[in-house]
Amino acid sequence: MMNRRQFLSTTVAAAATLVHAPSAFAQMSYELIIKGGRVIDPSVGLDATRDVAIAGGKIAAVEPNITAGAADTIDARGKIVAPGLIDIHTHAGRSKEGPPICLQDGVTCWVDAGSGGADNMDEVAAVARGAPQIGRCLVNIARTGIAPGGELHDLSRANVDLARGAIARNRDVVIGVKARMSNNIAGANDLEALRRAQAAAGDLPVMIHVGQNYSPLRSYLSLLKRGDIVTHIYAPAPNGLLDDKGKLIPEVLAARRRGIYFDFGNGIADHFDWATVEAATKQDFWPDTFSTDWNVMSRTTGVFDMPNVMSKLIMFGMPLSQTIAAATCNAARIFPSFDDRGTLNVGAPADVAILELRDGNFEFLDNYKSTRTGKQRLFPAGTVFAGKKTPPRA
Ligand SMILES: [Zn+2]
Repeated sequence: MMNRRQFLSTTVAAAATLVHAPSAFAQMSYELIIKGGRVIDPSVGLDATRDVAIAGGKIAAVEPNITAGAADTIDARGKIVAPGLIDIHTHAGRSKEGPPICLQDGVTCWVDAGSGGADNMDEVAAVARGAPQIGRCLVNIARTGIAPGGELHDLSRANVDLARGAIARNRDVVIGVKARMSNNIAGANDLEALRRAQAAAGDLPVMIHVGQNYSPLRSYLSLLKRGDIVTHIYAPAPNGLLDDKGKLIPEVLAARRRGIYFDFGNGIADHFDWATVEAATKQDFWPDTFSTDWNVMSRTTGVFDMPNVMSKLIMFGMPLSQTIAAATCNAARIFPSFDDRGTLNVGAPADVAILELRDGNFEFLDNYKSTRTGKQRLFPAGTVFAGKKTPPRA
């Protein structure tokens, strides 16, 4: 039995041990230290020169000048050290070759948005499970997935029970539903297809692809719930986010206020033009999230990589920290699968994107073969996923 005095002295001793624990720990070696970079972590409001120490696949410390030893170090002086990038609209699930490529771009979490429908979801889900980073999928409400000529002209393909079955079979990786609304994909079936996407999704997020729609954008927004996502937000008319006079329609701001997310969605054809980006951003309408609409061919298109896509909005004056927030913590907030990602907070999985912000003249491409020249471009300069280094792209 301990008397009170013994108990107190034990407690004091324990407290003393705790006080000394950090320096004792500092004697130990970390697995990896990323030294001297400009750490931009919007999840904790940090933008400062810091070292990032990693142990056990997790962020162990973010401090100025960590002196402890490490098995490995990365010299990040002159570079940006950000949380791993989260690309919420890709087609990385189409083949197993895709995910390792975008990992080199700093993308540590991706979402394949509707490549697969009920008929082929299992193949896409298998690619997601085998990816070297976190891969997740949205099941297309059309059972065929994305189909040439448009998957929703035949409304019978939008089968709620089949979509639910595909979700149930792949609950570990399927985290929502995708529906493509454009006139050339759905025609007049758009609204009914979206109602069915909501029925299949239940509480899961629905992402809608918009642009040159049959119905006005406001009619889709009225069918979205909190946490749903609109991708290709800067798609030009008809039926985009601007009215005939170039003014933002009020329903877009109302939708944002009730918790609907607006995603950039670069892609290749008809998803954005500079004039719409300029008009919308001048009215202070910026994307909540960035996405590439990436596939293995993206190197040869105007997409190139996620940091390049982010650079396009930097050209229009989006602040760097807000740009990085859109590619990290904002995206993490949408999907529960990414709850502990998009941050360099101590204890989080050590997913890190090392980026270089270069000054110069850089040409960026919209979806109508029109270029604009920006003064800065972000380049991928290294990726760490779950504490493990990925060699940068050659
Ligand atoms: Zn897409």
